[in-house]
Amino acid sequence: MSLTIYNTLTRRKEAFTPLDPANVRLYVCGPTVYDCAHIGNARPVIVFDVLFRLLRYVYGPDHVTYVRNITDVDDKINARAAKDYPELPLNEAIRKVTEKTEAQFRDDMRALGAVDPTVEPRATEHIGQMCAMIDRLIAKGSAYVAEGHVLFSVSSMSDYGKFSGRSLDEMLAGARVEVAPFKHDPMDFVLWKPSKPGEPSWPSPGGIETPGRPGWHIECSAMSAAHLGEVFDIHGGGIDLVFPHHENEIAQSRCAHGTDLMAQVWMHNGFLQVEGEKMSKSLGNFVTVQELLTGWQGYAWPGEALRLNMLRTHYRQPLDWTRVSLDEAHKTLWDWYGDVEAHEPASEAPAAIVEALSDDLNTPKVIAELHKLHGARQFAELRVALSFLGFSASRANIERASLEGGEAAERGKVDELIAARLEARKAKDFAEADRIRDELEAMGIVLMDAKDPETGELTTKWEVAR
Ligand code: AMP
Ligand code: ZN
Repeated sequence: MSLTIYNTLTRRKEAFTPLDPANVRLYVCGPTVYDCAHIGNARPVIVFDVLFRLLRYVYGPDHVTYVRNITDVDDKINARAAKDYPELPLNEAIRKVTEKTEAQFRDDMRALGAVDPTVEPRATEHIGQMCAMIDRLIAKGSAYVAEGHVLFSVSSMSDYGKFSGRSLDEMLAGARVEVAPFKHDPMDFVLWKPSKPGEPSWPSPGGIETPGRPGWHIECSAMSAAHLGEVFDIHGGGIDLVFPHHENEIAQSRCAHGTDLMAQVWMHNGFLQVEGEKMSKSLGNFVTVQELLTGWQGYAWPGEALRLNMLRTHYRQPLDWTRVSLDEAHKTLWDWYGDVEAHEPASEAPAAIVEALSDDLNTPKVIAELHKLHGARQFAELRVALSFLGFSASRANIERASLEGGEAAERGKVDELIAARLEARKAKDFAEADRIRDELEAMGIVLMDAKDPETGELTTKWEVAR
């Protein structure tokens, strides 16, 4: 059985041959830990979890190394820490934000059935390797020091831009690079930059006397080299990372190590969308994994239903996140589990499942095969296939909890109405306030008004009428 994977580097589907079948090496760009993950962020995690499981099956569980980093140094983290913990020194506030977010991320991804990667390196624990790599780039003439920064010199690399296949204009627009006067070329990007007083900082490379911190791209180049070596098998991430992040990772790693490749195969998942638009923090059209698990559209959804819903679409296609589709995924699992949970699993994963996965992770085909097994009442085979894919096959794990009061108590809607009612009261529009109270009552929600004893502010609690 051979595994084929679509390679962004060559833009075609290719047979996969590991550099060393005794140690197949996979790197996936992980989260920047400043805020909890939305369901779009979970897409690469689930996709590469399926790949990890397949590789372990093919090459043996002890012969695959999966590295997914944690970016714990970033401007967004600094901003978040200053906002959330204004009373703390910045470094302490940052630690609080990163520790909390990292723990939440791990819990969320486990709830989605993703096994932990082999290594989850933190950027802040690899600063030494980053500095060494930057010094090597300077020594080789691929980077230069300017005003406390170290910049990568794109003119030092003849095929810069080839990976993402962009013209110079497109790259300039896509990178939204700072046009700093000290740059030799507007496309040159930051490897290291000065820190402001109070911000996290480390001794700088390049003979720079003032302390600073790494740029984002160098983090992945250093962490992948530290854990997987200079050239490894597969590098993955979302399609938005092709440029500039992966283009720059490749430039840094190849120039520092003097290799033709950083990774043999580059894999990118498509976007998870809402009504045709990429789900993202900046557009505000996101739903967090936590929200889905604890209450979205009237229900707390089991992680396994989120997982199946994700795998219904091939990983390179855009995926529209809808309630209807999530509902169907949940019903499907409920049906399957009801039939399989009383059966012992068969000893081997069915060949048709492994074959479909081996065709560039064709999960829609896999799911069609699962339906076939169910239809043919091959429950032992269905059970082992489910477990292969990260599903528990136990109904107890996928009970979809209706929020108290059922659909009517859809939390977001209740909170919205309560906020609107408080606004109306503040504006002395008591008719509107009473109308909203009636609307909530009709939904089965009882309000309890109280005054905050300290601030004197009116607050409202609610419960479901019994
Ligand atoms: P970020 O926190 O934006 O760096 O994203 C972390 C990971 O999630 C990266 O691999 C992104 O490519 C991926 N990602 C972010 N948004 C989406 C989305 N809407 N659909 C699929 N993947 C996404
Ligand atoms: Zn990366």
